[in-house]
Amino acid sequence: MVQATNLGFPRIGGQRETKKLVENFWAGKITEQALDEAAVKLRAENWKLQQAQGLSQIPSGDFSFYDHVLDHSVMFNVIPQRFRHLAEGHERNFAIGRGIQKPATETQEKVDIEAQEMKKWFDTNYHYIVPEFETNQTFHLSANAKTVQEFNEAKALGIHTRPVILGPLSFLLLGKAAKNSAGLDLITLLPKLLPVYEELFAQLAAAGADWVQIDEPILALDISAAVVAHFHTTYTHLTAAAPKLKFLIATYFGRIGNNVSFIKDSGVAGLHIDLVRAPEQLEHVIANIGQTQVLSLGLIDGRNIWKTNLAAALKLAETAVAALGSDRVFVAPSCSLLHAPVTLRFEKRLASKNPELFDWLAYSEEKCKEVHVIAHALNHGTDSVKAELADNARSIEARRVSSHTTNAAVRQRLEAIVPDQLRRRNVFPTRQVKQHEANPLPAFPTTTIGSFPQTKEIRLARAKFTKGEIDAAAYHDFIKKEIAFCVKEQEELKIDVLVHGEAERNDMVAYFGERLEGYIFSENGWIASYGSRCVRPPIIFGDVHRVNPMTITETVYAQSLTSKPMKGMLTGPVTCLQWSFVRDDIPRSVVCTQLALAIRDEVADLEKAGIVHIQVDEPAIREGLPLRSVDFDFYLQWAVDAFLLSTTGVKDTTIIHTHMCYSDFQDIFQAIVRMDADVLTIENSKSDMRILGAFSTHGYNAEIGPGVFDIHSPRVPSTHEMKERADAMLKYIPSRNLWINPDCGLKTRGWKEVRESLTNMVAVAEALRAASA
Ligand code: GLN
Ligand code: ZN
Repeated sequence: MVQATNLGFPRIGGQRETKKLVENFWAGKITEQALDEAAVKLRAENWKLQQAQGLSQIPSGDFSFYDHVLDHSVMFNVIPQRFRHLAEGHERNFAIGRGIQKPATETQEKVDIEAQEMKKWFDTNYHYIVPEFETNQTFHLSANAKTVQEFNEAKALGIHTRPVILGPLSFLLLGKAAKNSAGLDLITLLPKLLPVYEELFAQLAAAGADWVQIDEPILALDISAAVVAHFHTTYTHLTAAAPKLKFLIATYFGRIGNNVSFIKDSGVAGLHIDLVRAPEQLEHVIANIGQTQVLSLGLIDGRNIWKTNLAAALKLAETAVAALGSDRVFVAPSCSLLHAPVTLRFEKRLASKNPELFDWLAYSEEKCKEVHVIAHALNHGTDSVKAELADNARSIEARRVSSHTTNAAVRQRLEAIVPDQLRRRNVFPTRQVKQHEANPLPAFPTTTIGSFPQTKEIRLARAKFTKGEIDAAAYHDFIKKEIAFCVKEQEELKIDVLVHGEAERNDMVAYFGERLEGYIFSENGWIASYGSRCVRPPIIFGDVHRVNPMTITETVYAQSLTSKPMKGMLTGPVTCLQWSFVRDDIPRSVVCTQLALAIRDEVADLEKAGIVHIQVDEPAIREGLPLRSVDFDFYLQWAVDAFLLSTTGVKDTTIIHTHMCYSDFQDIFQAIVRMDADVLTIENSKSDMRILGAFSTHGYNAEIGPGVFDIHSPRVPSTHEMKERADAMLKYIPSRNLWINPDCGLKTRGWKEVRESLTNMVAVAEALRAASA
């Protein structure tokens, strides 16, 4: 029998219940006990829902309040020194994720601890907390290990689940050496780590588990032969130590390639592969697994919202069944459904207002059903699910022939693009002289990345406007007041290049999507981004184009309030693409070019309106990078071209800024150089400074603002610590090129901490000016 399985279900709840619970806990509105009880309920609902869709292997241990990698680290005692004195429990876990700051009280000293580093999970927009390992790291399994607890919780409900854990190799190699352990070769910790996995497996076996899913996503990366050899010894060892369990090694987001070589004689019971991202790997993998090993087919896109073409998926699955026999085949989503929204049940507006498009969609709940239909067809013949297959075929065809997905004018404009549209008129050194002359700024200019706190009032006003409780005039009036407030605050803080604060934007991609043709919006298509934060990616279903200016009114109004330069804020084409659910019927590169033309028009309008600084954010350019280096060039060519197409239509004196939320550029440095921005602001507050060295080695000569503080934490950084960072930056960046700014937008923060942080930040710039005067 082919099993209908799942790798992970979204943990956020059908209506973002987890987010609300966690935030209420942070705010002291609910107790730890209430938090736990609510989570028990949520998990039960998730399991029952998957069961109701017809899945036979349902994951457990996939729930998390903050991040599953963080939970895994804590379960294995990988807790950085600085958090170890805190009492075990949710509060400590949240502190690791968010940092913690508490004023001194009569009984307690003040607490001020920086969060652990957060990183994008492969090429997704999900962020994980990077495990920090020490040279003399000790691993041990926490009492009431979460994985065992949740398995038992499901068992008590009569649901036999497949526990999911992060595998030892991915755990180590996705982590980093703690500050006190520089130079630590992470893989050397393996012998110390494995006994703890063994203990966990013993507990799971004792609890009655049989299949255990071990996620080893690094198998989709370029890993060395030495690491592949470690996979072999590790799994031979672990399978021998846990004879009662069947291990399913899960890979996703790309092809396993030759890393598959260890599987055959590793003793593992099965392998999961992503056949959405890499359908061509099926044959190779079938030829390279052992005689009895199970192959789990990732046929349903866990990263997107479109219905699966069931006929096509079935065909692929039939190949596998023909080669392996039905007992050796599982059907599954391509990856954990963590990256897909929860359920279409609450998409009421789309269902009634746009039934054509609604009919093309499948969220997690519906994807589970698709898994079931495929497995059922394989087990009992296509006739047994005739109605489901017919209905699916009808909607796939309807989408294919829909007149709403193509626009002839857009296609023509794309055809007509010429190389000159991808170049500035002069090289940066020439532009810089003209820019400084035309628009002089103090040395070490200060700026922010764009957004200011999205306060309760702002969200409330937007909600009222959306619901029709206030009219457009009242809403725009409100936004104008917010902009004016934000400008005044920045003037008082003595920031040099101001922003309007993005109060009118709920989300940096959705805002533009709402104003572009070819996009549509869900009400409830939320996915986890980091911590309690969820995003609701807009949906690109058709050819994208701009009909009206999108940001001119707000930017021009903001500029009218100040004599300081106002920076126009746009989201770049690659980021719009990357943070949307993208149509899968034309290449991503084409969608990206369509977006680029729309942004290019907006840049031109801003310039025409007298805006001198224009920032085109591309925080997502790196996460779009393919997982394998052989695929880099192809992607970077079209991605950077799209950025250039959107930004180069301006005069030399117009200053193009771009922003990225990371600083891990080593492998894409040439692409960053080719983007040819005048000012680049990047994340740098958590990563170490050495990365900046790459800028000088690669001869990067444009202006840079490596973030001097981490906006993901509510912690207020002191002037002293930021000044130290800036001083360290000056070792790598010539002083005329250094900007002083936070590492990302401030929208998730509160005004109090923002004011304090920015006051300290401006003091850094003043100190630097004084020192160099
Ligand atoms: N301008 C955006 C903001 O400040 C940039 C956000 C981002 O890089 N993610 O919110
Ligand atoms: Zn950012």
